[in-house]
Amino acid sequence: MSCCAGTIYGLARKAAKAAAMVILTAAAPAFAQQTAPRDPAEPPQAKPQPKILPRPLGAIARQSIDEKSMRALIHNLVSCGTRLALSSWTDPKRGIGCGRDAIVTRLNEIAKDSGGKLQVVVDKFELTSERTNGKPIPLENVYAILPGKDPKLSKTLFIVSGHFDSRPSNVMDPDADAPGADDDGSGTVVSVECARLLSKAAAKGATLRATILFATVSAEEQGLLGSTHLVDWIKEQGYTVGGMLDDDIVGADSAPGGPHRVRVFSGNGEIDDADSPARELARSIEEIDGRGAIRMIFRQDRYGRGGDHYPFYKAGLPAVRFTEPLEDYNHQHQTPRTENGVEYGDFEKYLSYTFMGDVARDNAEVLRQLAMAPAPPTNARLKGAVTPDAKVAWAAEDDPERAGFEVLWRETTDPRWHVYDFVTEPGEAVLKGVSTDNHFFALRAVGKNGARSIAVPTEMERRPPPGPTPAKQ
Ligand SMILES: [Zn+2]
Repeated sequence: MSCCAGTIYGLARKAAKAAAMVILTAAAPAFAQQTAPRDPAEPPQAKPQPKILPRPLGAIARQSIDEKSMRALIHNLVSCGTRLALSSWTDPKRGIGCGRDAIVTRLNEIAKDSGGKLQVVVDKFELTSERTNGKPIPLENVYAILPGKDPKLSKTLFIVSGHFDSRPSNVMDPDADAPGADDDGSGTVVSVECARLLSKAAAKGATLRATILFATVSAEEQGLLGSTHLVDWIKEQGYTVGGMLDDDIVGADSAPGGPHRVRVFSGNGEIDDADSPARELARSIEEIDGRGAIRMIFRQDRYGRGGDHYPFYKAGLPAVRFTEPLEDYNHQHQTPRTENGVEYGDFEKYLSYTFMGDVARDNAEVLRQLAMAPAPPTNARLKGAVTPDAKVAWAAEDDPERAGFEVLWRETTDPRWHVYDFVTEPGEAVLKGVSTDNHFFALRAVGKNGARSIAVPTEMERRPPPGPTPAKQ
């Protein structure tokens, strides 16, 4: 007994001491704990002073967001009663087909205003899952495509996507109401609003070199069926994926003190330095929209939940998920009802167009800048192990619109890249006096317009350290 009581007392004392430390820290000047690192200077001489090109002009302004149209489209979607993928595709008044019609109508209006640049496609297919009773069901995705202006880069797609299906408590019940205002009416209208913003930017002369796909997909709730099909469709059309933004539950921000930052989830990938393509996309997003707008979360998704970025992520593609800051589970996946005074259901009245408008702007600006950027470097390698200098090597095709490449580095414990140097030609850069071992390195291409590709981390061929020869059997 005495041992354990003592331990508990010890813990309590530690806690009290920790609390006192917190108070002291709060009273001390900011960053008091960030003493100068007691490490050798790296590099030992002065660091390079790279030229940093400013980011592209013409950023999408918050005032240009058409909240009224976003509100109207969500209202039309909710008015379909349910948009469960097992409901009717042909009834114009109730069911998922009614939702598809609302989206197609809105996209056609936007396409008309775009001077014929934006193409609207309804993609029909069939898929099966446990949540289709094991039978193939007819499904449809709706896309708007804004073709890129660069002959080579137009085969690269940047994608924004929301899912227009919804669900009641029972995911197999096509008859129950499922308003799906937030999940995922919100992501659907963000994708559609991005189509309007970017086709307008293109019409005004923005040089969007890559192609942008504004997707609204179905059957997310039946097992990510629409997005799984989209991965295949993209391949069949001969595109490669430059980046995929999944917007799912981005419509509400009810905690006090808003507007808050939107969360951007990105998976780690399978290597030990947290540099999956998804993570590099997340870092680009934060850099473009700012830390005040984006809360990066280094996790593939929330626990116990899934989303349409997942089939892309699993295919090794750069794909992330945007989700509102603090979800209310009474307003998701719930058949509308009131129980013990608690109201359940995903209704329009819980939405914030201030927040959703911010998310639309942030998505659109990311798409704009990434579509203006040169292709990312390829075959990025790190050499120089067991020597005083790190060497980074990379390849890239000719591109007259490219200014050069930024060599990026970060402490192995840092979440974000910093620019170490700027180099005009692909090939190899020697980082004099920089160890291969204390940092991670990456490269990205920079356009003359200031747009950056996503970063490509360098990889080193890894050799296991020497060990005993395994005994013969
Ligand atoms: Zn959803």
